[in-house]
Order: sequence, then C-alpha cells, then structure tokens
Amino acid sequence: MDDIGRKMVQISKNTIETIREIHGDEMVGEMLASWINEKVVQICKKDVFLKKYAKHLEIIGFKKDTIVIKDAHLQKVVGVTLKDNRLWCDNDKNGDKSCMHKWFAMGSLEIGVLEDNEKS
Ligand SMILES: [Zn+2]
Repeated sequence: MDDIGRKMVQISKNTIETIREIHGDEMVGEMLASWINEKVVQICKKDVFLKKYAKHLEIIGFKKDTIVIKDAHLQKVVGVTLKDNRLWCDNDKNGDKSCMHKWFAMGSLEIGVLEDNEKS
C-alpha cells in the first residue's frame, strides 16, 4: 500500500473484536487495514447510490427492532420492524414484499444491529 495520503486512524478494541468474531483471526495487520479501507469506500458509494435512487427516503432514527424512515413522497414517517425473521413496514397493509421502505432499510448500516422481536 502506498503511503501517499495515508492517515493514521485508531480502531477501537471492540471494533477489532467484532471484526474478528465475524471474519476470523486471520483478519490482522495490512489485511485488516485493506479490508477497513475497502468497507469505508463501499459505505461512501452506497450512500451516494441511495441519495440518487431513494432521495425521498431518509433514516431519522432507530430503536431496538425498528428503523424509522422519513418518506418525503408520502410526507410521513414509517417504521420498518424486524419481527419473526422478517421485515415489516408499518405503512404496508398487505405485507407488500416490494415495499421501498424495506429495501431502503436493507441497504442501511442500521439493519445489522436490529434485534428480532420474535413471537414468544
Ligand atoms: Zn413501506
């Protein structure tokens, strides 16, 4: 990796532990640095993509099991909830599988931290 433009960034111990839990112990040194650099660029490009193709949607918050999305076309706030291993949009009356809110939520970073509110 060339040193031009290189900046040092601290990565927290918790972040490294999470990466290793998911990707294994081989994710160290230059491999870890390359992986993190690639992910940051992918996140930036994903954000540009979503601003272009879903510019009317904006994540304005999230709770334990729900991503809260502001929809400028509908002029309302909708929730996409993870329940029973599926995403449910509170704006959809018939479980529409092509709901744009669910697709938008799937493209968010927040989707990975939602907790499934399974039936008991
Ligand atoms: Zn929806």
